[in-house]
Amino acid sequence: MLEFDRLLRNAIFIALLFSGSSGTNADPPIAIAIHGGAGTISKSEISEARETEIRADLAKALDAGYAILEEGGTALDAVTRVVVLLEDSPHFNAGRGAVFTADGRNELDAAIMDGATRRAGAVAGVTRIKNPILLARGVMERSPHVMLIGGGAEAFAAELKLEFAPPEYFKTEDRWQQYLRAKAQAEGPRAMLPAVNYFGTVGAVALDAKGELAAATSTGGMMMKRYGRVGDVPIIGAGTFADRNCAVSATGWGEFFIRLNVAADICARVAYGKFSVANAADEVVLKKVPELGGNGGVIALGADGRVRMPFNTSGMYRAAIDGRGKRVIAIFP
Ligand code: ASP
Repeated sequence: MLEFDRLLRNAIFIALLFSGSSGTNADPPIAIAIHGGAGTISKSEISEARETEIRADLAKALDAGYAILEEGGTALDAVTRVVVLLEDSPHFNAGRGAVFTADGRNELDAAIMDGATRRAGAVAGVTRIKNPILLARGVMERSPHVMLIGGGAEAFAAELKLEFAPPEYFKTEDRWQQYLRAKAQAEGPRAMLPAVNYFGTVGAVALDAKGELAAATSTGGMMMKRYGRVGDVPIIGAGTFADRNCAVSATGWGEFFIRLNVAADICARVAYGKFSVANAADEVVLKKVPELGGNGGVIALGADGRVRMPFNTSGMYRAAIDGRGKRVIAIFP
């Protein structure tokens, strides 16, 4: 009996030792990852000054989201805050600075999902809402619906008293010049080429101290889109998804992300396939998407605070603070 007690005490001691060494401290992990789009980003194309500004805006959004988590706020509030800041930045293809449609307008899509409850809200094709992510959140929390589009979505925004902005607010000179170049090309012999060079969607995933996950994504879609085209971002499961184990926000050539149901597929592999979030995200982004001819990337976060940010383009604007407190801000591989 004494021998048994001794063995039991030793076993408890060893178990405590291991549980203590597996995390940074006794607190439950909090974590956040954000992106500002994946695409053909070449070092020679962005000036040093612009790169510094982009990194500063990513850092500001990352830290603002993380501060909410540190103060005990929800993952949902953290991802909302991050996406609002990135929508307000002129450097990303969401809110101010969004790409232009073929007829020179900005049509915005956004979505948000709460992993704990699986509630979700999305908007597509809105043109006058300063922060589409706030409208998506309004759809989730204050309507019985999941997705609203165009004029109807804007009428709902008016009821919620959300801030409206005139078309000039979304227009930046850089983006306009990009549009004029794309338009000239589209009218020339390369008209059939897809506009793969104009990504820049923003998104965030977060894990709060209660262990709950959330994901949010916002975009102007793809440059030169026509006929009311809607991409993957506001389609729950394609560009945005969260459940109890996994949260994903995507960026890339939306049609492929819709066809592969990318964000939900990653989380399904974790739930049913016993994949780690890292393996699931890599498998889908680095194998499944390019197999069909698509490109882009995701930020993926697990309930253990581990972050994975795979992409199959030359760059992806991204930043994270994982469950162990490790901070990264990066553009290239
Ligand atoms: N996924 C977005 C879309 O297809 C574009 C992007 O990520 O930049 O609308």
